Amino acid sequence: MHVKGFNKATFEAVHLSEDKLTSIRINPDKISSVDLLDYITEPVAWCKDGYYLSERPVFTFHPLIHAGAFYVQEASSMFLWHILNNIDVNENAKVLDLCAAPGGKSTLLSSFFKDGVIVCNEVIQSRAAILVENIVKWGNDNTIVTNNDPRQFADCYQLFDVIVLDAPCSGSGMFRKDNAAIGEWSAENVLHCSQRQQRILSDILPCLKTGGYIVYSTCSYSKEEDEDIADFIVKENPSLQTVQIPVKEEWNIVETISDKENAWGYRFFPDKVKGEGFFVSVFKKTDNTDFPAFDRPVKEDKNVVVTKTEKEVIHSFIDIAAEYEYLRNRDSILALPMANIEFIRLIISKLYIKRAGIELGSIKGKDFIPSHHLAMSKLSGLIEQKVEVDKEMALNYLRKKEMNLIAPKGWNLIQYKNLSLGWIKGLPNRINNYYPSEWRILKS
Ligand code: SAM
Repeated sequence: MHVKGFNKATFEAVHLSEDKLTSIRINPDKISSVDLLDYITEPVAWCKDGYYLSERPVFTFHPLIHAGAFYVQEASSMFLWHILNNIDVNENAKVLDLCAAPGGKSTLLSSFFKDGVIVCNEVIQSRAAILVENIVKWGNDNTIVTNNDPRQFADCYQLFDVIVLDAPCSGSGMFRKDNAAIGEWSAENVLHCSQRQQRILSDILPCLKTGGYIVYSTCSYSKEEDEDIADFIVKENPSLQTVQIPVKEEWNIVETISDKENAWGYRFFPDKVKGEGFFVSVFKKTDNTDFPAFDRPVKEDKNVVVTKTEKEVIHSFIDIAAEYEYLRNRDSILALPMANIEFIRLIISKLYIKRAGIELGSIKGKDFIPSHHLAMSKLSGLIEQKVEVDKEMALNYLRKKEMNLIAPKGWNLIQYKNLSLGWIKGLPNRINNYYPSEWRILKS
């Protein structure tokens, strides 16, 4: 491999070593201190909420992961936080995370742009379902999960301040973490990935606003998928300028410059940094010359307005502040942040929506059936009936096993360490468990 910063001997040694890194990013809206978590060692230098662990626990058996208190994310990927801190973007930015499943970068973006909107897209349907699960558990109201092919974004001309393209790639950067990736690697696949990356970029770049940024990343070491793609971006789109990101020397991140267009790139080698293999490059759209403007007609809203009577049913259950607008999506009632409602409606009109804002629940006659998403969100703070349980009981709940528990009549939030895990319904002699069956713990 002829890549700046690559050292065969140390690179091979680190891959043969038994030491594997584990890192997590905590959810700042759910836990304010890491005291609740085990095995924390040191912070990840480039990400405010990132931490390394001294060992890798079986996360499935940690109730707090199901409460969305943290996300297990590879440390190099968290560099996105540092990039966002070093570019000129507003807190209410409109962001597209195009290849978003399982949701590592989406949850980071959601925590970073608290007042913005993150469109988290995943083309593969089964992976989009996993993305929804992670977004629901994270619990913020600023995300929209979509399930579209990059081509279908043609209608989203210049809508986004930031586009994150964490591209599907040949995966060599994951060799240490995932041995199966080694067997799947081939030179033909690198070429195939590089062509696909170019195609996705051509589809998506017109969606970037003037003054906006695109962050392109892969977990591949291949120049064809990294610096050569950076060259492609600038060559094909002269209005995109390379952006240099300041890095501290002690981080050992290798700064590269592409052959043809002198675009900056940042390489993470596992023998140098505390993280897996990763490449990232950032570009700013400086003018409007490339992409011809066209009208953006807003299509008819596919969602149904919530009636006054339905609102009364919702408010008899939860007294939500006026900062949300309600929309009915099939059977579900969604609460969408009013501050960004026009943009959210525009996205809903253009893409295939899996989830938007917070799903509050559904209405059956005069009854309100709360959604798991509501339990996971900050709006759950408005619910008075809460039952705190210990770890064993929490795991029984998450397994949907028999629980020897009596709770006040009606809907209760079940909590572990003051964080909601989901709903139970108190009946005279027992409780009903409303944890989503498809997410229950199956491992014993
Ligand atoms: N950003 C994610 C995160 O941080 O958790 C990881 C994304 S992964 C590197 C790349 C994603 O691209 C996968 O979820 C994959 O399903 C998706 N993908 C595969 N082929 C694609 C295509 N042709 N267009 C867009 N996305 C694709």
